[in-house]
Amino acid sequence: MWKFASCDGCQLSILDLEDELLALASEIEIAYFLEATQTASDGPYDLSLVEGSITTAQDLERIKTVRRQSKALVTIGACATSGGIQALRNFRDVNDFLAVVYADPGYIDTLATSTPIADHVAVDFELRGCPVNKYQLLEVVTAFVFGRKPMIAAHSVCME
Ligand code: SF4
Repeated sequence: MWKFASCDGCQLSILDLEDELLALASEIEIAYFLEATQTASDGPYDLSLVEGSITTAQDLERIKTVRRQSKALVTIGACATSGGIQALRNFRDVNDFLAVVYADPGYIDTLATSTPIADHVAVDFELRGCPVNKYQLLEVVTAFVFGRKPMIAAHSVCME
């Protein structure tokens, strides 16, 4: 599980699974999930779930590294699949926002845009929603674990 620019809400959808997560955990090894386990094992990885958008030069390099280390890469949530609410900056000068939000914007190093993961690396599946639906997330992970196509309707979802 990899986090980029996001609120962590989609990662929390995984933790919300509770009983289902315990069953799933017996089938997989969680190699990297700092939000939940502080586990950080080196790759390669069979499946990477990516939350968040690309907003810094460092993240742009990091997502390429994640892609190289991952057999399959799935983006989860509106931030990762469309740039998220932070993509509002794409329609204005990002320096205008920095001047309003930060007392000393000179310390902030950011790209002018917030972009989805698929703009930068190949993505095997996109799960939409804000946050993602936890049962759809379970279906996606289960499908990749067992080597089949996820059975998810191809439309955007806005969950509670
Ligand atoms: Fe948070 Fe929504 Fe982005 Fe998920 S898609 S990380 S819930 S803002």
